[in-house]
Amino acid sequence: MRVLLVVADGMADRPIKELGWKTPLEAAEKEALNEIATMGVCGIMDPISPGVPPGSDTATLSILGYDPLKYYTGRGALEAIGWGLAVEKGDVCFRCNFATIDDDFTVLDRRAGRISTEEASKLAESLQKVRLSNGSVKFIFQNTIQHRATLILRGPHLSTAIGDSDPYETGKKVLEVKPLDNSPEASFTARVLNELLEKFHHVLRNHEVNRERIKRNLPPANIILCRGAGTIPNVKPLGEIYGIKSACIAVVSLIRGVCKIAGMNLLNVEGATGSLDTDYMAKAKVAVQALQENDLVVLHIKATDVASHDGNFYEKVKVIEKIDMMISYILDNIDHDDVYVTVTADHTTSCLTRKHEGDPVPVAIMGPYVRRDDVIEYNERSCARGGLGRIRGIDLMPILMNFIGKTKKFGA
Ligand SMILES: [Zn+2]
Repeated sequence: MRVLLVVADGMADRPIKELGWKTPLEAAEKEALNEIATMGVCGIMDPISPGVPPGSDTATLSILGYDPLKYYTGRGALEAIGWGLAVEKGDVCFRCNFATIDDDFTVLDRRAGRISTEEASKLAESLQKVRLSNGSVKFIFQNTIQHRATLILRGPHLSTAIGDSDPYETGKKVLEVKPLDNSPEASFTARVLNELLEKFHHVLRNHEVNRERIKRNLPPANIILCRGAGTIPNVKPLGEIYGIKSACIAVVSLIRGVCKIAGMNLLNVEGATGSLDTDYMAKAKVAVQALQENDLVVLHIKATDVASHDGNFYEKVKVIEKIDMMISYILDNIDHDDVYVTVTADHTTSCLTRKHEGDPVPVAIMGPYVRRDDVIEYNERSCARGGLGRIRGIDLMPILMNFIGKTKKFGA
């Protein structure tokens, strides 16, 4: 037996006046989701704990069964792994932006006018040639999409206890990176990073790409801002904990990173974009196929969260209806005596506040031997009346693994 776990990012929401005080899930036409609720056992889930707005990274760790309060080590390393960079134990990773500053180091644009990926690649190529004065520390600098980039510091005596250089606001000065504790490692790491960022600035300031941008009246990408020093969480892979083979279908690098450290096989889907224009059916087909050879398949959809952050609840309703079609295809193409289909969200994203919120999310599990309850609609309020009651994010994986016979008895 096996599990398909569909995670729709930020799908849960709060009631919205324009939708007649319904949530987008309540307003959407969704036959397949309702079938899962009807045939399954339902509940609500606090991804972290009640009232705590989760990040997508901490929530995903939790849903995979890892207590984020114990294992979360920052976003930098997870994202770097998700981009396919070979992060090693002890590496200190940062999320970076190409940004624009004036001669006074005041930030004019934190995203350098959302510089194109092509231009950023050219700049990154030059930055990779920079050398640090301390030969024991190596670095990897990799641009990803547009202004975004990842920096990895590798070597002995490094620490994650250092601050950001990113002031997070325009009109503020770039910060000098400061050690956050009294250890020699922290001050050493801060020193190395300050040196590196200064050398980066010199390369960028005189770079041809930026001279061209200035000529075209575009903000030059003349500084790298760093934030969120982190390292790899020290978790046991799912394969070791439950003896399972697992795969993940996700585009967002952060989610891919979390799944990777959980030991999941990362599958690529042509046409999947991690945004509103993603190819839902292509993802569904890969999921159905992946279920042939895996005990657990996680299918992550980002579009619900994108619509929520845009505050576009009509779009969110449409996205949910597309997800419903995707699930309908899946239900038509799997063996119902063999697969437990679970649908949930990693957190609530409110279309009104446009932020992640601490409200619980609905969860429904359909499968051969679940204790069916009376819930017949998949949404935040209906699922709250279901047989699962109210669980935490870290409860979900043991529940699912127990259904497919992969958990060990606790006690004699
Ligand atoms: Zn999320």
